[in-house]
Amino acid sequence: MVAAEGKRPKALILISGGLDSMVAARLLLDQNIDVEALHFRTPFSEQNEEFVEKFCRDIGIKLHKIVLKKEYLKIVLAPKHGYGSEMNPCVDCRILELKKAKKVAEKIEADFIATGEVLGERPFSQNKDMMLHIEKEAGLEGKVLRPLSAKLLPETEAERKGYVNRERLYAIKGRRRTHQMTLAKELGIFKYPNPAGGCLLTEPRFADRLKEHIKNEKKLTILDVELLKAGRHFRIGKTKVIVGRNERENYRLSFLCSKNKNLAMLEVNEYMGPTTVIVGKHDVETLQTVAAITVRYSDAPKDTLVSLKYDGKNKRAILNAYAMPDSELRKYII
Ligand code: SF4
Repeated sequence: MVAAEGKRPKALILISGGLDSMVAARLLLDQNIDVEALHFRTPFSEQNEEFVEKFCRDIGIKLHKIVLKKEYLKIVLAPKHGYGSEMNPCVDCRILELKKAKKVAEKIEADFIATGEVLGERPFSQNKDMMLHIEKEAGLEGKVLRPLSAKLLPETEAERKGYVNRERLYAIKGRRRTHQMTLAKELGIFKYPNPAGGCLLTEPRFADRLKEHIKNEKKLTILDVELLKAGRHFRIGKTKVIVGRNERENYRLSFLCSKNKNLAMLEVNEYMGPTTVIVGKHDVETLQTVAAITVRYSDAPKDTLVSLKYDGKNKRAILNAYAMPDSELRKYII
């Protein structure tokens, strides 16, 4: 990563779509640096990608995108550096992202990599020692500039070589975003997402579901993640059951069923009701229990025997069930 003589230095900045990375990108542009952005999408990302695209378009920088799939799931299953407060393997995630960023930076001949990280914003992965460890493990020791906290961190190669003026960088730390918000205003950034959200792995409710899944299934696939994101979840013995909560989820679940032969589907006839998905093998007794749960969440009267259609790929059937009483339902809720 070396700037050719007479050319403006070039930076590759990791853009999450959050306020910090947006401000950091603008700060680099203000130092007359040629900036390109790199955005990662993981199976757990919730950030609006269109928002990132629009931001990059508005400030006139090129956007590169990388979708992390299987290698990311491996990290979530067994992170070398452990989890943060929930199921977020932030340290391993950042190492993987920086390794990928290094390759992109080499390809586009960027002189350095930058991030919007703020010292102390996340106690697990954004303390000084860990930030330096992460860049070292990614093979980027001293080569990652964090414009928002640069003055609290050792001088980077970009500063030493004069690509960036350290005096015009910041010494922000901590979780309060007041300083970044003031800076954003000064830089003309008025629209940015709420700090909450972005990565489902940090959300306690989702993290509980994921823990339960890993404990019972000992594996994690893209399909598993898609299913974890939707509906109410139940476990009947070894069988996992997902019941759609609204039209959008019902549609999503029936779409997933149509694409995967290991999923079976159950819906009530004659009444409005959820799409229910059964994951993996199940016996007749389990199927009858799932039918009762499905009727419970339908509009059918609770004391009426209701007909349901079952689509188990190689087998289709009609069965009947009464709604499961709530006292019994609690046994199965995840
Ligand atoms: S919050 Fe999620 S996306 Fe962000 S570093 Fe942690 S694991 Fe990665």
